[in-house]
Amino acid sequence: MRQPRYQNHIITLSLVSVINMVILLSVIVWHIHSAVVKERKDLIHSQVESALGLANKIFQKSLADGASSAEAEQELFKYIGAMTFQENGYFWVLDRQGKMLAHPNLANMSTKSLIDVQDSEGRFFIRDMLNTADQGGGFVHYEWPKPGGRQPVAKIGYVELFKPWQLVFVSGLYVDDLNQDIMEQFSLGFVIIFVLFVLSIFVSLRLSKGYLKEFRHKATHDSLTLLYSRGHLNDVAPRMFDKAAKTPFSIVFFDLDKFKSINDELGHKYGDSVLSEASMIIKSALLPHKNVFRYGGEELVALLKATEEESFDIAEKVRLAIAEHEFHGPKGKPFHITVSAGIAQKKAGDSLVELLKRADLCMYIAKERGRNKVVMDSDVRKADRD
Ligand code: GH3
Ligand code: MG
Ligand code: MG
Repeated sequence: MRQPRYQNHIITLSLVSVINMVILLSVIVWHIHSAVVKERKDLIHSQVESALGLANKIFQKSLADGASSAEAEQELFKYIGAMTFQENGYFWVLDRQGKMLAHPNLANMSTKSLIDVQDSEGRFFIRDMLNTADQGGGFVHYEWPKPGGRQPVAKIGYVELFKPWQLVFVSGLYVDDLNQDIMEQFSLGFVIIFVLFVLSIFVSLRLSKGYLKEFRHKATHDSLTLLYSRGHLNDVAPRMFDKAAKTPFSIVFFDLDKFKSINDELGHKYGDSVLSEASMIIKSALLPHKNVFRYGGEELVALLKATEEESFDIAEKVRLAIAEHEFHGPKGKPFHITVSAGIAQKKAGDSLVELLKRADLCMYIAKERGRNKVVMDSDVRKADRD
């Protein structure tokens, strides 16, 4: 089935709003990313500061106790090797030549310098760390496997020099941990956007269906009588006429009798309500036939899939329903009105215009014959022949 145009518009509008939401979400995620990176960097910075504080305490104590630096340093390394924070946070200590002095995941510290060690991207990151420590401390980017892992992952390290013993303290964070947190937030946002998208399409389609029904009704119905309009007759009649090749098809033309006098006596406004009431009576008397249109003024047209004789019975039913109905004037005074009708059935070679004209002509003959009558085209032709 062809997708109605308005549905495509709603889907397009919803897609545009989703694209906007995704852009907005990306900006938010980028901000969150920056904020989380800053927060994590602040964390490793402050953790290194605490480790330096501990080192300073041990240094001061060694001065007070008169202990040797070597002994005091060993005590410090014992602590440093055991210190962790958060999930993967730990410290390590290098000397100024790049030798590893303390590390929680290395049982044997190397005795040779690591300054020539490169990460998977070829960076001499130990050299970078020593240089950064010399310049007062800072962040160094490099790649290194996680504890127990083999695959190098991006890391950000914070480096600072403990001047009394010329030790370089390092702590780092794994960038993929960070990205994983952010991706989780992004996925949640994406799921929410998708649910909102589906919901907005659903709600829009539901709402627009209601409006569309109303618009369609307005476009096809006459506002006073609530019957189908003349415009709708112009759409429907040719189709029904063309389809009626094998099945019978008749047109009934109704015209209220002496309606002008209703307006003259009761006023045009009241005439409106009589016309609307009479239209409803005609509509229900025609049932189950539903194709009844306000042709103009107080003239109605019914399209019936019926022979002329069948249509005559139906039109008679209408005529009687109107004649028997008791209308009431402005002060409740009862009165009656009548209707005249003309009927013509489609015959081979007929056009729709001709058929309408013949039904109209029959209606005028009904007027001439005294009104409150139904006249069939076949009767008129027969009378003409006689
Ligand atoms: P007859 O058809 O029996 O010959 O007489 P008539 O008085 O009904 O016919 P005519 O065509 O001369 O006038 C039709 C009148 O119907 C004219 C107008 O006052 C009235 N009329 C048409 N449309 C409306 C309408 O929408 N509201 C009201 N109040 N009157 C209408
Ligand atoms: Mg008229
Ligand atoms: Mg009339």
